[in-house]
Amino acid sequence: MIYTKEIAIKEEYDVLVAGGGFSGFAAAYAAAREGARVLLVERSASLGGVGTQGLVNHILGVRLLSEGNTLVPCVGDVFAELEKRLIARGGAVDVDTLDLDLHPHGWYPSLGTGLVFDCEQMKLILEEMLFEVGVKILYMTDILDALYEGDRVSALVLHNKSGLFAVGGYYFVDATGDADLCTSLGLPMQKGDEDGGMAAASLEMHVENVDSAALFAYMKETGDLRFRTIIERLRTEGKWSFPYDIFISVKMPREGVYMINTIRQVGVDGTDGDSLSRAVIDGRAENFALLAVMRAHFPGFSQATVRSIAPTVGIRETNRITSHYTLSVKDLVEATEFADGIALSAYGWDLPNPKKPSHQPYHGVRRASEFTQIPYRSLIPVGVDNLLVVGRSIGVEREVLGPVRVMGPCIAMGTAAGIACTLAAKTGAACANVDVTDLRARLIDYGGYVDRAQCERKKDV
Ligand SMILES: Cc1cc2nc3c(=O)[nH]c(=O)nc-3n(C[C@H](O)[C@H](O)[C@H](O)COP(=O)(O)OP(=O)(O)OC[C@H]3O[C@@H](n4cnc5c(N)ncnc54)[C@H](O)[C@@H]3O)c2cc1C
Repeated sequence: MIYTKEIAIKEEYDVLVAGGGFSGFAAAYAAAREGARVLLVERSASLGGVGTQGLVNHILGVRLLSEGNTLVPCVGDVFAELEKRLIARGGAVDVDTLDLDLHPHGWYPSLGTGLVFDCEQMKLILEEMLFEVGVKILYMTDILDALYEGDRVSALVLHNKSGLFAVGGYYFVDATGDADLCTSLGLPMQKGDEDGGMAAASLEMHVENVDSAALFAYMKETGDLRFRTIIERLRTEGKWSFPYDIFISVKMPREGVYMINTIRQVGVDGTDGDSLSRAVIDGRAENFALLAVMRAHFPGFSQATVRSIAPTVGIRETNRITSHYTLSVKDLVEATEFADGIALSAYGWDLPNPKKPSHQPYHGVRRASEFTQIPYRSLIPVGVDNLLVVGRSIGVEREVLGPVRVMGPCIAMGTAAGIACTLAAKTGAACANVDVTDLRARLIDYGGYVDRAQCERKKDV
């Protein structure tokens, strides 16, 4: 069947950002802060993507816990502003108030390296920041297609309650998480591993009425932070039939509330509508089944009740673009320095095996530096001049997704992409021809991090 329809190009913008997760938010903010006219198009009704709609209220990758318990930041600027506003309103836990010695191993100290935040306050602050710099946000709007003229994207085809229409632009940022614009343009990319396998998806749950004292007492006494011992026993007793062997819970700013990042849904394809729909249905039921086990067997959770279950399933992995440079495992192991470095992450290997969701194949692989540097070229898709990609679909070898897919580096990449578009716009240049020295200088001026050395220096202070 061929379906044709004449549609109007409604408006034109300097920069069009597709997707309002943390990377799209940062791209829109950074471009508009430079004076560009920016439209951000988002399918849902809030900013924050997986971080808010997916209920993953915990930004990782933004700092490192060095020896001696010093926190060394590696994502600044836009993230720092978000953190400041959240803390001022009681919407985040100030890491300076955490006792990093209290829970000396495993999961809990890592709370200090991230930022745990209140979801609704975060949504509000994200909007406020965009309005302050004059970004137009268009919610509840699906991006259906990207139109191409020569080597350039010229417009996006959108659909919302008003019907079908197009919006034109000069530069575009694909922050859809799945590289949807690149898919529309037929650009080369790779999905998952060599067999198409992708890390499990998770529908997140938040619970309340958790007894933190009882939970921490168990953890301190046993060191069993992820309840492996309990789960092993439950499995032998036939009371644990889930395909994962660990329980991940994160304490939220409000006392007694925990994010349960535990279920692992194997075989979900985040680019397939049916698969996504099934994942939400199955995930909801599985969270209730898990809660029953938690209440019966997990210290601190006997009175826990559901506070919310995410309205959308969290996807860890789908497409990775073919970019001007593919960031490799070797680069991470050897800590390659890039002259076009534009973002850093302090997060480690974390991409579970597609079939064995509690198995991390790269855990234990040593690296010359704990900081991952992301080169600008990994954001530039091959085959188009005026498009940058940010977030988990940038051009990396699969295992590199672990450090780069978390929200801290997503914010940093978005910021770089936003500024890069405005630098390119000055002369109408292709994104690949942006002067990276200018770009990096601009990022540093705003308080960003582009080189490991900036962080290593702070470690020594
Ligand atoms: C279960 C799970 C747990 C995680 N845990 C953590 C954690 O603890 N800490 C951490 O830092 N990171 C974590 N991550 C990783 C991190 O949350 C994501 O990789 C990150 O939030 C991605 O941000 P993004 O902006 O690039 O993409 P997304 O958050 O996926 O945002 C993409 C946005 O684009 C919109 N969109 C997509 N396609 C279209 C379209 N066609 N039309 C219109 N809009 C569209 C979506 O609605 C969405 O808002 C986790 C991920 C998952 C799945």
